[in-house]
Amino acid sequence: MFGKEKFEKCPTCGEFILENAPMCLHCGTQVKRKFSSRRIIFICVCLVLSITCFTWAIISLMDSSSSSVTGGSAFKDTTISMSEFNKIKTGMTYDEVVVVVGCKGELMSEVDIGYSEYATKIYSWEGNGYAGSNANVTFQGGKVVSKAQIGLE
Ligand SMILES: [Zn+2]
Repeated sequence: MFGKEKFEKCPTCGEFILENAPMCLHCGTQVKRKFSSRRIIFICVCLVLSITCFTWAIISLMDSSSSSVTGGSAFKDTTISMSEFNKIKTGMTYDEVVVVVGCKGELMSEVDIGYSEYATKIYSWEGNGYAGSNANVTFQGGKVVSKAQIGLE
């Protein structure tokens, strides 16, 4: 892009001046110049590319953040469904269950006898079925040991 310096004639005094000079060195006339069409195309392409990249980055950012919250579900998920319930397996951690269900459960009871590996916690999730439908998951030492559901669809 740089290197070869092009010259043009000053419109006022007719002396040769550098093509990109803002004013004539000989008579001081300010040279108003239009961007060359090639430069305009270049700037447009840069703009479009950067906007595209920016938009894409925002979208992928929103995608990754929403999928980490909803566990990949396209919809905002605040309840547990039958298929989500079926994905809960014995030995999963609470965090893994939250990812599967798509939202945090409500801690219903906690029994801690002093050893964290034997601490029992029961979490409840609101079901997607009729009002009152729900799923309870029992964790012992941070791992799923049993689960139960009522009215999930
Ligand atoms: Zn001049």
